[in-house]
Amino acid sequence: MTYIKHSWAEPYKIKMVELLQMTTAAQRKKALQAAGYNTFLLKSKEVYIDLLTDSGTSAMSDRQWAGIMMGDEAYAGSANFFRLEEVVREVYGYKYLIPTHQGRGAENILSKILIKKGDIIPGNMYFTTTRLHQELAGGKFEDIIIDEAHDPENEFSFKGNVDLNKLERIIKKYGAKRIPYISIATSVNMAGGQPISIKNLKELRALTKKHGIRIIHDMTRVAENAFFIQQREKGFNHTPIKEIVKQICSYTDGATMSAKKDALVNIGGFLAVNDWDVFEEARNLVVVYEGLHTYGGMAGRDMEAMAIGIGESVNDDHIRARVGQVIYLGNKMLSYHVPIVKPIGGHGVFVDAKKFLPHLTQDQYPAQTLAAEIYLDSGVRTMERGVVSAGRKANGENYYPKLELVRFTIPRRVYTQAHMDVIAESTARVYEKRKKINGLKMIYEPRYLRFFQARFEKL
Ligand SMILES: *Cc1c(COP(=O)(O)O)cnc(C)c1O
Repeated sequence: MTYIKHSWAEPYKIKMVELLQMTTAAQRKKALQAAGYNTFLLKSKEVYIDLLTDSGTSAMSDRQWAGIMMGDEAYAGSANFFRLEEVVREVYGYKYLIPTHQGRGAENILSKILIKKGDIIPGNMYFTTTRLHQELAGGKFEDIIIDEAHDPENEFSFKGNVDLNKLERIIKKYGAKRIPYISIATSVNMAGGQPISIKNLKELRALTKKHGIRIIHDMTRVAENAFFIQQREKGFNHTPIKEIVKQICSYTDGATMSAKKDALVNIGGFLAVNDWDVFEEARNLVVVYEGLHTYGGMAGRDMEAMAIGIGESVNDDHIRARVGQVIYLGNKMLSYHVPIVKPIGGHGVFVDAKKFLPHLTQDQYPAQTLAAEIYLDSGVRTMERGVVSAGRKANGENYYPKLELVRFTIPRRVYTQAHMDVIAESTARVYEKRKKINGLKMIYEPRYLRFFQARFEKL
């Protein structure tokens, strides 16, 4: 009997296509120089396959587009807000919703409410905007992720886990009073999209309860995290994604959400909390920074599309295809011996630039260099997640993160398997000529979140 492989494919078909522009090597060279070797400064028309981010780049479903037509654009009390509030309660279980224009809007409001000058905010690895808002509110971030997360070779299944000993040491050192909350991301972005386990969350909940410390959940990619729990954690093999998502949320006291990721919309976010006092304060502050508490910077139609997107995001078939495509790309890269972060994460493949370009020091920006080289080769746009993204400390010194990565982030429901092949082949071509690649020098450095606008020159 012949062995026939049991393949599966995307649980959708394509109704409309967006045409892509192909470029020549000469055009790409010119475009890259004009962009100061920063892929953030390229024009989208200069890009063939855009893996800069999975943020706001998803394809909406026909149902979501239909929802756009159902926008209730009343200034106050839009029907779409109440629908979104209901969906957030039903799917995630948080009691109170404050809509914001995107994730960082929620981070700003939350940080202003909960953080006092001199406070410490422990978290399972930093995220750029999250940490910056904590710092701007007078707080200091402390990393409590397990050591395995900082090692791209370590294949531990839950590299997003918190090291409870690190946390206990911090509580002992500063006292629980100076810790307004623990900041917990699901599917830790900066670690390569690595999940946290239910077991770890439960233990964290028990420990924080003892000390009266809140847990705030950065739930941007909670469904992708739930998929890894379903695949890898004992006892969850047959649990639907929807149930796992709700369980994750139940161990936390509130959340900030960038709906531009998991929730399958092009713009939007929210803050959700269980605590009435925090909600009251947030509902007041949102008016200052975002908009009225029933729209928070979004149009009614955006809220409707988000409500529908949240429902689709916790569908088992959707999430398997979504993460499955990322894993397909990662395995293809491995077949060409390209060094990547393992295990392969939920929203993208992270190439280890230190290993790829070992002849460059971190001051020569290996990841920034590699992202530029891949664009030159094929018009594939990726981004740096290393020393440039890490930025500087309050005292002006550079952060030197252990991980120096190039992120190949996959938009949801946008590209095909053939695109994944093109991406992997381009990376393999650059890998073949890696020894001839020179680093970069930074010639312009913005003060905040420098990776967005910094400019470089070839060394
Ligand atoms: C994108 C992101 C944010 C910020 O959200 P925006 O919608 O971009 O403002 C916060 N945390 C994580 C983990 C993210 O990936």
